Amino acid sequence: MPELPEVEVIRRGLRSLVRGKVFAAPRIFTPKTVAYPEPELFARRLTGRRVEELGRQGKFLLFFLDRGELVFHLRMTGRLVYLPEKAPLPHDGTLRLFLPFADGSGLFFGDLRKFGRVWLFQQKEERVHAGLHRLGPDIYEQVDEDQFLALLRRRERSRLKPLLLDQHFVAGLGNIYVDESLFRCGLHPRKRVAELSEEERRKLYRAIRETLEEGIRWGGTSTRDYRDARGDRGRFQERLQVYGRQGRPCRCGCTIRRIRVAGRGTYYCPGCQGKE
Ligand SMILES: [Zn+2]
Repeated sequence: MPELPEVEVIRRGLRSLVRGKVFAAPRIFTPKTVAYPEPELFARRLTGRRVEELGRQGKFLLFFLDRGELVFHLRMTGRLVYLPEKAPLPHDGTLRLFLPFADGSGLFFGDLRKFGRVWLFQQKEERVHAGLHRLGPDIYEQVDEDQFLALLRRRERSRLKPLLLDQHFVAGLGNIYVDESLFRCGLHPRKRVAELSEEERRKLYRAIRETLEEGIRWGGTSTRDYRDARGDRGRFQERLQVYGRQGRPCRCGCTIRRIRVAGRGTYYCPGCQGKE
């Protein structure tokens, strides 16, 4: 599932390709992919709008338009790929939406599992439809080390894994980058915030930042369907230390385990991250 680094890689890749372009009439193949407003109105309102800038908040990809805002969430298997002028539309069974530009290029939105969503907002108040008003600060762009420590102090009783996955606490992290970050700083996923020293809290913040930066630098993680803005796979999956590696040896010599924490499959090393 695309997390912050994958969405950031898509944002950076698309930015230079689509800024200044004007949307033509969209083609909607799977109506439920359009979450707001209803598809006919979505199509009418998007046509003629110009892309001014691209942004991101957590795992949401934002297109700031000359009027309003187009928002994507890729969820499990969503892909947003730029198609140059005259490129054939890939009818590969995942096509949900095609957003052509007036110059003949366009954006292909493919999504095998159909959980991905798109919204079009004209007013700030409409962002409630995507839950953006309740989203926590973006862990990469909006939270520095001291702010992170302050946020942790409000959640002393929480266990690390579910807390870091909670998009209302901080936005952007998912299963892969949480497991990799906790491994990097040697903290057990079931530990509670209250059990951490100040030094461990600072190490956790730095581990998250380093893991996200590395993920972005390697073009994101393509364990399954993720592709960047040009349809290429990321390479961070080759550098994963614990995620998806149960039964394999850690660099410390211990065997990596898979356990369930708050209902989520969780990978960790008992040697590096302790028993509990
Ligand atoms: Zn280890």
